[in-house]
Amino acid sequence: MALMITDECINCDVCEPECPNEAIFLGPEIYQIDPARCTECIGHFDEPQCVQVCPVACIPIHPEHVESRETLWLKYQRLTAQARADAAATLPPPAEGLANS
Ligand code: SF4
Ligand code: SF4
Repeated sequence: MALMITDECINCDVCEPECPNEAIFLGPEIYQIDPARCTECIGHFDEPQCVQVCPVACIPIHPEHVESRETLWLKYQRLTAQARADAAATLPPPAEGLANS
């Protein structure tokens, strides 16, 4: 299941840097979670890191994004594959001498 941030959020900024999937962002008023990027931390940690650090416990399961553990694992694999592809795309081209050797 993806998680969500309720309007009890106090914008303390603590959770955003803890997310291994870069799923948390500052919305118009409070922080939000992109359900397409939240794996409940599966693939990275045993427990949701945002829930661990939130001082007001305002990060429940998103009722509209109920997903099985297997689905979350597949989402994790898709996100990491995308991250690898993005990293490869930003690499500089090989140096002239290397390219011709
Ligand atoms: S549960 Fe994990 S992946 Fe989902 S928003 Fe929180 S820190 Fe990010
Ligand atoms: S840790 Fe909790 S209160 Fe702080 S920004 Fe994140 S959701 Fe809001």
